[in-house]
Amino acid sequence: MKFPWDKYEELPLKRRNTLQIFITNVCNLRCEGCFARNIMGSDREHISFEEYSSAVSKFLEKGGKQINILGGEPLLHPQIKDFIRQNKSQGIKTTIYTNGYFIDRFNASDFEGAKLRASLYCKSGKTKSAESLPRTDIPLDICYMVSRKTSLDELFDSARIIERDFKCDTFFISSIRELDNPRKEFFDDTEITMPVLEYKELVHNFLDRYDGDMEIHVSKRGVFESTKTLPDTKCRFANYFIGGKIIQCPYDVVNKKIQKDYQFETRNCQQNSTCLMSKIILKRK
Ligand code: SF4
Repeated sequence: MKFPWDKYEELPLKRRNTLQIFITNVCNLRCEGCFARNIMGSDREHISFEEYSSAVSKFLEKGGKQINILGGEPLLHPQIKDFIRQNKSQGIKTTIYTNGYFIDRFNASDFEGAKLRASLYCKSGKTKSAESLPRTDIPLDICYMVSRKTSLDELFDSARIIERDFKCDTFFISSIRELDNPRKEFFDDTEITMPVLEYKELVHNFLDRYDGDMEIHVSKRGVFESTKTLPDTKCRFANYFIGGKIIQCPYDVVNKKIQKDYQFETRNCQQNSTCLMSKIILKRK
């Protein structure tokens, strides 16, 4: 496996104390491999504005900088625009992770101060495909979730569609990982998770073939290492679930290791500093 270093430069990654808030359990899909399905349960519930504001103000007191809004499907939360506005007024960087189905119910101005990131599973078909994503003038990024089914052609063709039709400047290649697989290990290869070495090979081959201008972000999965950014030994991450449940590390979600408060830059990383949330950023020379 040869990494095409002759074609790419790695860009440094800016690290920030980051909170993922799961603002709703409501979703139009129930994807296999959904990160949050274990902890979300079957309730159909939205976070209240009061609970959201309180979670955010505690986060700011602890040196918080970046909020990722997730669900369920966050665009189904009736107050999503209020959350975005409030984050903007507090100087928080916001990224909203969406399945993309409802983007055409919004205007570009609704997302001012926030970044919208739509996840894709495939090139064609009804569910989370590059071809079915609604065409709007709303700027967005793409997060392509690789599974065992993903072929090089599919990944490459999806990137082409995204760059041509959506004028995206970021294409994030990540990987489906199941939290509630039988061995309860987040990095375990499951029926839908692409084994790490196949993932590495797929990404290498993609990078070798890709000839566009987007930044390519790659989830490390323990097989990609940065040559630009030192690993953080202190955790800068937390997850907040409706009802005040704070779970620091995504690895702990499967066992519901709930804690009282956020602990940024104090707790040692429990994964030998190979943070689950880390990635590398590449740009064609
Ligand atoms: S892998 Fe380490 S740094 Fe990343 S969220 Fe978990 S404990 Fe924090």
